[in-house]
Amino acid sequence: MTTRLFDQDVYLKEAQARVEAIEEKDGKVWVVLDRTIFAPEGGGQDADHGWINGIQVSDVRENGEMIRHLVAEPILVGTEVTMKIDWERRLDHMQQHCGEHLLSGVIYERLKGNNKGFHMGAEVVTVDIDLPSIPEAMVLEIEAEVNRKIQENLPVEIRIADKLEELVDVALRKEPTVETDIRVVNVPGVDCVACCGTHPSRTGEIGILRILRADKYKGMTRIQFVCGMRAVKISTFEHRILRELNQQYSTESAGLVDRLTKEREKNSKLEQELKVYQIRDMEVMAAELIAEKQMILSREFETMESGMMMNLAKTVLKEREAACLFGSLSEKKVVLMHNIEGLHAGKSFKETIQAANGRGGGGANSAQGSFQEGEDLKRFMEQVERMLNSEKIDK
Ligand SMILES: [Zn+2]
Repeated sequence: MTTRLFDQDVYLKEAQARVEAIEEKDGKVWVVLDRTIFAPEGGGQDADHGWINGIQVSDVRENGEMIRHLVAEPILVGTEVTMKIDWERRLDHMQQHCGEHLLSGVIYERLKGNNKGFHMGAEVVTVDIDLPSIPEAMVLEIEAEVNRKIQENLPVEIRIADKLEELVDVALRKEPTVETDIRVVNVPGVDCVACCGTHPSRTGEIGILRILRADKYKGMTRIQFVCGMRAVKISTFEHRILRELNQQYSTESAGLVDRLTKEREKNSKLEQELKVYQIRDMEVMAAELIAEKQMILSREFETMESGMMMNLAKTVLKEREAACLFGSLSEKKVVLMHNIEGLHAGKSFKETIQAANGRGGGGANSAQGSFQEGEDLKRFMEQVERMLNSEKIDK
C-alpha cells in the first residue's frame, strides 16, 4: 500500500520514501513507493510529474492501493529516495481543477446544469454541461460570479467519510462513484462534491478563471476555460494582438470592431468596382487576341487571377481557333487552353515543367502550372511557345 502524502498535505514539494517494488514492462519502468507526494492521473486530472532521486517521473498511475511511478531508469528495491515534485505543473493542475469545481457549482446553482464530463488538456480545460445551450450573457455572468468567489478567498475544505451514510447532512452536487473512503471537497456556499483531485487550500490561489468558449456539443454545452497562469498568458497574448491592431488601424480597443467592419465593407465595395474594370479590360484584351493573325497567343500579365486568365482564354476560343498561353506574374501561374486538333496541352506541359522548376499538368485541351520564381515562369513560357510553334508547323 502506498501512503498518499498529497492527501494529507497538498503543498508537500519534497519528501523521502522507500522503493517497495519495481516493474519493467514493454520497455517501461514503474516503481512503487511506500509513500508518495505524486498524485496519480484520475477524475479528469493529469498525473503529477517530477523526480525520484533526480530521475524523471513522467506518469503516475493508481493500481488498487498502490501508486506506480513511471521513471526514466530503474531504481533498486529498498532504496531510500528523495521525491521532488514539478511544482509549476502541480499548482497549474490545482488551479484548473479547483476552478472547475467553482464553475460547476455556480452553473448548478444558477441553471441546475450538471457537469457530465471534465477534461484537463495541456492547453484548455473543458466541462460538458447537460444543457442544450447557455446564452452569452449568462456565460459572462457565470464567469464574473466564479471570479468573485475566487476573490473572496474561500476555504477549500477536504473531508473523508468512511461510508456514504456519514454524508446524509451534506448537500453533494452529485452522487459519489465510490461507497467507502469518500473524499469530499467543499467550498462553503459554492460547491460540495466527492473528488480525489488536488486542490489549493483557498480559492484565491486559483487566481482567475476565464471562459474561452461555450459551444453546443452532443446535445450539451461544452465550456472551454482556463485558470491561473494559463489565463494570464492568454490575456497577455490577446492584449498584444489588440495593441498591434489598434496601432495598425489607429483606433482604441472599444472602437476596433467598428473600424474593422467599416474596413471590410470598404474592401468588398472596392472589389466589386475592380471586377467591373477587370471585365471591361478583359473584353478589350479578348477583342485584340481574336484579331491576332498567329495561332499561338502568348501573353504575360503582371497581375491577373488564374480564373480570369481562363475566362479570357475561353472567350477567345469561342471565336476562333488558337492556343492561349497565359502567365500571371502575381500568382506565378501559367495556363494553356486551346482548340487546335492534334495538340495535347497536358503533354506539352509535362515534358518541360519539371526542368523549369514548376509543377503542374492537365488534359488534352487545358493545362495549368505553378512556379516559385517569376524567372522560371518566363523561361517555361518561352519554351512552351517554341514547342507549340514547331508542333503546329509539323502538322
Ligand atoms: Zn474534482
